[in-house]
Amino acid sequence: MTDMESRLAEIFARTEQEERTLFEKAGEIIRSGGLVGMPTETVYGLGANALDAEAVRKIYLAKGRPSDNPLILHVCDVEMAERCVELNPRARLLMETFWPGPLSLVLNAKSLVPLRTRGGLDTAAIRMPNNRIALELIRASGVPIAAPSANISGRPSPTDAQTVIDDIGDNVDMVLDGGPTNVGVESTVLDVTGEDAVLLRPGGISKEQLEAALHAEVKLPQDGNIIKRSPGTRYRHYAPKIPLVLSAPSGAAEAANGRKWIWIGVSEPDGEPYKKVIFSNFDEYARELFRVLRFAEGSGAEVIVAERPSEDGIGRALLDRLIRASGI
Ligand code: AMP
Ligand code: MG
Repeated sequence: MTDMESRLAEIFARTEQEERTLFEKAGEIIRSGGLVGMPTETVYGLGANALDAEAVRKIYLAKGRPSDNPLILHVCDVEMAERCVELNPRARLLMETFWPGPLSLVLNAKSLVPLRTRGGLDTAAIRMPNNRIALELIRASGVPIAAPSANISGRPSPTDAQTVIDDIGDNVDMVLDGGPTNVGVESTVLDVTGEDAVLLRPGGISKEQLEAALHAEVKLPQDGNIIKRSPGTRYRHYAPKIPLVLSAPSGAAEAANGRKWIWIGVSEPDGEPYKKVIFSNFDEYARELFRVLRFAEGSGAEVIVAERPSEDGIGRALLDRLIRASGI
């Protein structure tokens, strides 16, 4: 396959037989060390065989990702997870409750998982995505798939297949098009190796949901410790090409400070924005965030003024992504 068009494989409107052939082909690419772009319920991932250090190296190269930023292993069932990491009762409970879903569990890695996949750490993050196409691909490959977001490092994560092609199309062997994703922010990363469960990255499953399942408090990392424990959090992420500032609706015009501004949020802002995108709730705001950041870049506005969400439920993950996008 050479041109972009033939690499973008739509799943819709295929017969079962055609679909099976496509997954077999994609699985073969993964097994032979290639890269496949795939939808998950959160964002599009750039997938490779997580057990093949050479294949994983290609992910880092394609994304321009620092080599100490570990990857999440995507599995199709608990048995596959068990081949890669040491399970404990708490991990099993969380898997039962939230898998398939946007919860990555950090556990002690087995030696089968190459150091390159885990960024040199003793642990590995693992999850089962809640997306039929991702699960079919993992099953067809027969191996766990390491899949960070399929964008150039530092750019907003892609939530549709065309954005994957636009960002890193030259470096992938195939992109499976499953339509737009429906969570939009990445998975929650939870360290369950120690006595306390520690929230390393807020995401699609909220702290409150985790605490309800565990009947225990979920800790936040101590300042300074988080970088050591979750290397990816040290890097600026999701940066749009124009500046982004956070504001309450009442201070929006002031935050724009004389620049042409685009408002994104769930409330009407004070003042006259050049453009505005109003979501019906915070879930939609989170789901659409990366798409709207890319839209805002090309909108003619000079600055994005984003409504600051409160820090509960999905708001915690949304605020985390907005703060990173603002580069504070
Ligand atoms: P991404 O694939 O870009 O969504 O990023 C995955 C993130 O998960 C990394 O940047 C880390 O912050 C986190 N992560 C992955 N593996 C580990 C691990 N073994 N220990 C702690 N955090 C991890
Ligand atoms: Mg990412």
